Amino acid sequence: MSTTAEWTDDQLGLRDAIERLGPELSAGHVQDDRAGTFRRDKWEKLAQTGIFGLPVGAAAGGLGQDLRTTMFVLEGLGKACRDGGLNFSATTHLASTVTPLARFGSAALKQRLLPDAIAGSVIGAHAITEPSAGSDAMSLRTAAVATADGSRYVLNGSKAFVSNGPIADVVVVYARTGQQGSATGTTAIVVERDRRGLSFGAPIAKMGLGSAPLCELFLDDVEVPSENVLGKPGLGFLVLDHVMKREILYSFVVNVGEMDNRLHATIEYAKQRHQFGQPISSFQSVANKIVDIKIALETSRHWLYATAAKLQSGRDVTVDMAIAKILVSDYALSTALAAVQLLGGYGYMAEYGVEKDLRNAVAGTIYSGTNDIQRTRIAAMLGL
Ligand SMILES: Cc1cc2nc3c(=O)[nH]c(=O)nc-3n(C[C@H](O)[C@H](O)[C@H](O)COP(=O)(O)OP(=O)(O)OC[C@H]3O[C@@H](n4cnc5c(N)ncnc54)[C@H](O)[C@@H]3O)c2cc1C
Repeated sequence: MSTTAEWTDDQLGLRDAIERLGPELSAGHVQDDRAGTFRRDKWEKLAQTGIFGLPVGAAAGGLGQDLRTTMFVLEGLGKACRDGGLNFSATTHLASTVTPLARFGSAALKQRLLPDAIAGSVIGAHAITEPSAGSDAMSLRTAAVATADGSRYVLNGSKAFVSNGPIADVVVVYARTGQQGSATGTTAIVVERDRRGLSFGAPIAKMGLGSAPLCELFLDDVEVPSENVLGKPGLGFLVLDHVMKREILYSFVVNVGEMDNRLHATIEYAKQRHQFGQPISSFQSVANKIVDIKIALETSRHWLYATAAKLQSGRDVTVDMAIAKILVSDYALSTALAAVQLLGGYGYMAEYGVEKDLRNAVAGTIYSGTNDIQRTRIAAMLGL
């Protein structure tokens, strides 16, 4: 589905611009992961390619590319850039902020924030999860109350895991504006970092994605103008549905690129590493592990692009999206483990940068709706 023969010269050119940056974006990735360092210099290099404007219309200052083209370029990022945290921060910004701003932002809000979000000079995040509301997103406690004249909202509450939080200039906060548990009781509201009453926790140490910082967020009587609402009050779950579909397609197609990189790296290693007087690639159990990476890569790629094509054609993708998310995150994890094993003791050592990919991949089974929750969606669609 994403073999080069199927893409135009323009699409290939966009991807090539990202892939050529690969060595620069990958520089120091092992150390940055260890130290938990977000590299703004690398972020700026990436932003200069126009990557954050890919799916935004030209009239709004973007590159006006469709969903599949955006994914094709992001796959290139995953393939060329070994800094999985940077990749995750980039797709988080694109899905959480650029996407809903462009699609649901008021004219005033777009004018104020979209050009800088596209340029990457404003970094975005989104805050859905709360200490007591994770998978059960309908039970959000963070509340937004409209002022009597309707000109502002006042937000109170706290959020648990906000990717990009420590570096974010704006956060899309999902808050309760109606009855808890109601499908129309949530609103998506943009909150700028410098709003009084908004505070951020320290970066939280985590298992992987070290260079993509994450923190808690606290809202204490934070006032924002009503123009900061994305879409309409009460329709936050519609915004979230649109966003989560893109988050899955964007962040997991990056994993496809990473699997592609993994395939080539393990082939190369298995051919040059000799044991018992022959390359380890000549042992069938070694070759089979690599074959399984190839199967994982092609299946993942196929599912993601097919799901995107179906979404673009306006059809229902509830089941396809859940399958794609489960499949790609599980394959990202199993292939990352296979790569560690294929490199033997070297794979286990941090300096080779392979064990890091395994730690990163665990997160994919949890964020964007855990794989258990994706299964409950499929079960419901099957009438179970
Ligand atoms: C690296 C990373 C980045 C993240 N970034 C963000 C972010 O930017 N913004 C944000 O808002 N959140 C973010 N999250 C949070 C993430 O969305 C939540 O962790 C996730 O939705 C699960 O919620 P929870 O952690 O509260 O787990 P819980 O919902 O408490 O789940 C615990 C376990 O129970 C299972 N479970 C729960 N309910 C059911 C059910 N009905 N059926 C079957 N199994 C169930 C889950 O699958 C899981 O295994 C991030 C998480 C990670 C790991």
